[in-house]
Amino acid sequence: MTTIIDGKEIADRIRADVSDCAAHLADEGVTPGLATVLMSDDGASETYVSMKQRACEETGIEGIHRVLDPEASAETLLRQIDDFNDDPRVHGILVQMPVPDHVDSQAVLERVDPMKDVDGFHPENVGRLVTGNTRYKPCTPHGIQKLLEAADIETEGKDAVVVGRSDIVGKPMANLLVQKAPRGNATTTVCHSRTDDLAEKTRTADIVIAAAGVPEMITGDMLSEGCTVIDVGVNRVDAETEKGYELVGDVAFESASEKADVITPVPGGVGPMTIAMLMYNTVKAASLQSGVDVEL
Ligand code: NDP
Repeated sequence: MTTIIDGKEIADRIRADVSDCAAHLADEGVTPGLATVLMSDDGASETYVSMKQRACEETGIEGIHRVLDPEASAETLLRQIDDFNDDPRVHGILVQMPVPDHVDSQAVLERVDPMKDVDGFHPENVGRLVTGNTRYKPCTPHGIQKLLEAADIETEGKDAVVVGRSDIVGKPMANLLVQKAPRGNATTTVCHSRTDDLAEKTRTADIVIAAAGVPEMITGDMLSEGCTVIDVGVNRVDAETEKGYELVGDVAFESASEKADVITPVPGGVGPMTIAMLMYNTVKAASLQSGVDVEL
């Protein structure tokens, strides 16, 4: 019998804990604040930002939202970040990616005060993650660790394969899995588009984490019996639905479920965790900046 991890339920529990911490901080005179900046008219980016703002409202975090004209200069965006860096109401800053081509995204990440970098993408925080001295774990990989914990999946001594090496998912996921820490201590292989014989790698894995952005590329025949499969992918594929598309993961759910003991669905697996962990990091940021302890 395959266990399907309910990411929504686990995310709701985390959000409830975050709300408690936010209430405790508020009692001490500190309202956690998250600033979001949107410099894009892409519908998906707008949706992601509005979901984050709604999550703020639901967890007792003050959401401060700025929309910048996609045609505005890079300097305008950097100045907005500076303003938020200096604003004591703001504990976390999130610039929704991607930014327009004329803006250097690395310069944007580096402009955010590392203490307010709740995405965990500033080089200082990346360095801390790599050295095991983590301040803010990037939200999606952190959410995956929480899913594994909730499903009682041990990683220590296991063979893990991460498919994808992006800075926001694949690499930080691999870094967390190799850390000498709970839900780490895994022997970890990172695969990417130049990997020779991907199926040979995934077939040896106890845990497969798929974050390639390729619809249903991981099929049952690429998996070992009894493995755990975490599907990060969110891909729009044409379908005869009202919207004209549907969302599918990087894993072919039907065939993978026949091999895996534990699997996440899309939607309803990793997705809800990412926003929950952003709220978590914001409350942690408020705690670190105010000196008021919270139990997260
Ligand atoms: P990127 O496009 O930045 O990275 C994709 C990675 O997958 C790259 O390293 C790429 O390799 C690798 N890859 C692509 N094709 C293949 C292939 N055929 N075989 C092996 N590796 C391959 O994507 P992201 O990391 O940003 O996102 C990955 C997926 O996760 C997307 O579907 C995205 O929508 C989703 N996502 C979901 C989130 C959530 O909350 N659920 C959050 C973030 C992302 P190379 O480096 O060689 O190009």
